[in-house]
Amino acid sequence: MIIKPKTRGFICTTAHPTGCRQIVRSQIEYAKAHKSDAGFKKVLIIGSSMGYGLSSRISAAYSCGAATLGVIFDKPGTEGRTGSAGWYNTAAFEEFAHADGLYAKTINGDAFSKEIKEKTIEMIRNDLGKVDAVIYSLAAPKRTTSDGTTYSSVLKTTNSEYTNKTIDLKDNTIKEVTITPATDEEITATVKVMGGEDWLDWIDALSDAGVIEENAVTVAYSYIGPEITYPMYTKGSIGKAKEHLFETSKQITQKYKGISAYVSVNKALVTQSSAAIPVVPLYISILYKIMKEYGNHEGCIEQMTRLFTDKLSSNTAKTDENGMIRLDDYEMQEDIQKAVLDVWDNVSTENIKEVADIEGYWSDFFGLFGFGADGVDYDADTNPVYDIDSLK
Ligand code: NAD
Repeated sequence: MIIKPKTRGFICTTAHPTGCRQIVRSQIEYAKAHKSDAGFKKVLIIGSSMGYGLSSRISAAYSCGAATLGVIFDKPGTEGRTGSAGWYNTAAFEEFAHADGLYAKTINGDAFSKEIKEKTIEMIRNDLGKVDAVIYSLAAPKRTTSDGTTYSSVLKTTNSEYTNKTIDLKDNTIKEVTITPATDEEITATVKVMGGEDWLDWIDALSDAGVIEENAVTVAYSYIGPEITYPMYTKGSIGKAKEHLFETSKQITQKYKGISAYVSVNKALVTQSSAAIPVVPLYISILYKIMKEYGNHEGCIEQMTRLFTDKLSSNTAKTDENGMIRLDDYEMQEDIQKAVLDVWDNVSTENIKEVADIEGYWSDFFGLFGFGADGVDYDADTNPVYDIDSLK
């Protein structure tokens, strides 16, 4: 079939297998050129098919030389219908990893479930013995807990209504958006989905089964950002979940004396998840423009290789005074933030293309689904069926 992007709001419902393959290949090239002596040998990545989780897997494999086991929740393509981008990314990753002699297997299913935790444990036991690092990179709208309750996360403020500029992604116009506060119930549900409870469940399950090294490292990802996004993010419902995630990192470290759990605060980037947050995409497109001018713009793979080459190894982590790894260090530089704010105050529909990197935003957005990759013929007849080796 000829595969073109089909967008609905801030999601793209199609994905291009050859494009995804090409993008994974270029991330692999980057990781290969940035070798790490972090010492990780067997890494479990939960949420490994897109965004930060995918790049963590690529960097663990190609910068550190680690065996990787990925947990994904994706759909294969069928005749006449494309699969999810995460499926194609994983198929491509395994194809390259196997050709390069690296162990790579994948489990497809709901990472929140007991069944998938058990399957993962079984696979570690059979193939790897124990893992020495666990990356927790889920970004999910919903979680069903073991008692059958389904919780949905919301992206709302917590105290009062908040009005600010946003970009309408349908036509790149600047509009005002008013976000209403979440109810207590919505905040609790958001913490259930995006907080640390499931991360701890994973570490408990791995530890009880004896398939995690006693001195393993585990990392989950968070975001802080500038004050203009505070009501939506850090001080919003998702921020409450991230606070819980951070508290969980301390709880894990305390509970398992040898295991070190960290939260890494990453840069704001275009991913499937961040596109859904009001205000944030406009901030990101301004930030991209400024960081590209400063020459320190990074995407997921640059961030994740920096995690493994500079910030984290099997026996140390560089953290701030609160104990958080800060990969948002360039983003939060005072001069960069001042420049973003200056633009923020003056950005309008008329000048958006000059003052923000709208092109970069959209190119990253379509890139998430395999569109716009160099050297791919998007008019070519393409087979949407592309198997993941370990799931054949
Ligand atoms: P993403 O949407 O690109 O990736 C999320 C991954 O989780 C995908 O591979 C998805 O398939 C997987 N997933 C979701 N539900 C699942 C389930 N039930 N079972 C198995 N896999 C599941 O998101 P992302 O932006 O890379 O986010 C990853 C983490 O990084 C999140 O904690 C997010 O808050 C954090 N983070 C993101 C940004 C950003 O700007 N994007 C910045 C800092 C931190």
